[in-house]
Amino acid sequence: MKYVTLNNGVHMPVVGYGVYQVAPGECEQCVLDAINVGYRAIDTAQSYGNEAEVGAAVAKSGVPREDIFLTTKVWISNAGYEKAKASIDASLRKLRTDYIDLLLIHQPYSDYYGTYRAMEEAYKAGKLRAIGVSNFYPDRLVDLCLYAEVTPAVNQVETHVFFQQREAHEVMKKYGVVHQSWGPFAEGRNDFFTNPVLTSIGKAHCKSAAQVALRYYVQSDVVVIPKSVRKERMAENLDIFDFALSDDEMRQIQALNEEKSLFFSHYDPAIVEMMASLKR
Ligand code: NDP
Repeated sequence: MKYVTLNNGVHMPVVGYGVYQVAPGECEQCVLDAINVGYRAIDTAQSYGNEAEVGAAVAKSGVPREDIFLTTKVWISNAGYEKAKASIDASLRKLRTDYIDLLLIHQPYSDYYGTYRAMEEAYKAGKLRAIGVSNFYPDRLVDLCLYAEVTPAVNQVETHVFFQQREAHEVMKKYGVVHQSWGPFAEGRNDFFTNPVLTSIGKAHCKSAAQVALRYYVQSDVVVIPKSVRKERMAENLDIFDFALSDDEMRQIQALNEEKSLFFSHYDPAIVEMMASLKR
């Protein structure tokens, strides 16, 4: 496993396992499978409803807690200093741990400055090893970097070959924030897994389109957390460290970029309303 060093010196695996849309009933087994095939980072969230299953799997795995990098996220309904503070303790209990490796603000809505203050406090108290954000577009990220006491270590945003976030990446780099991808396969949209550029490059390396894409991100300094409920795919998605893409192959994949979300824009007022209405 390769690691990236965050802006506070903490090491984070460059490939982790994401558990969004992994049902609570299968999550514990999936996380155990992921740890067994070699994952050492797990990405969950308060809103996924499976933090307890992640915690149970880590406890059962037999792998020392300090060898696993656990990420979770504070949901909008827990925004604001007091609620966020209580939610951090609730996440710690569900995850059966006395520290979280990385805590992110899930969405850039509601009183996220209050949330961030609670996170800074928990960070200083040793409950969190690193803190950061998710879905912060460059304007809000820069604002937080300029006015918060602790610079966010990570920004987790939609990133895949069709939406590479190149400008946002440069802003993150400028402020020392690690760019983490969510939806590295665009959840299969746009015929991701049969894309001709990805499959033909894959053929040359005896790798799948999924592996080529993941390799591309990692070679572009983007951390990834692919999700799969199938053990063989979990292993496939981790097996990207025995080949490298050439400059020409990197350019071909760069050219797939449409720099547009395949999901939704966080700038869209209807999305802000929709997120606010979600009861999680
Ligand atoms: P992904 O882009 O990781 O796609 C997951 C889909 O790809 C699933 O349908 C999976 O199917 C399939 N798949 C996985 N591996 C392969 C493979 N090798 N070959 C073919 N198909 C494959 O989507 P996610 O949205 O899950 O993103 C990853 C993680 O990012 C999430 O789990 C979550 O942790 C995080 N995330 C964060 C968000 C945020 O707002 N911060 C938003 C969305 C995600 P199957 O399971 O059947 O294998």
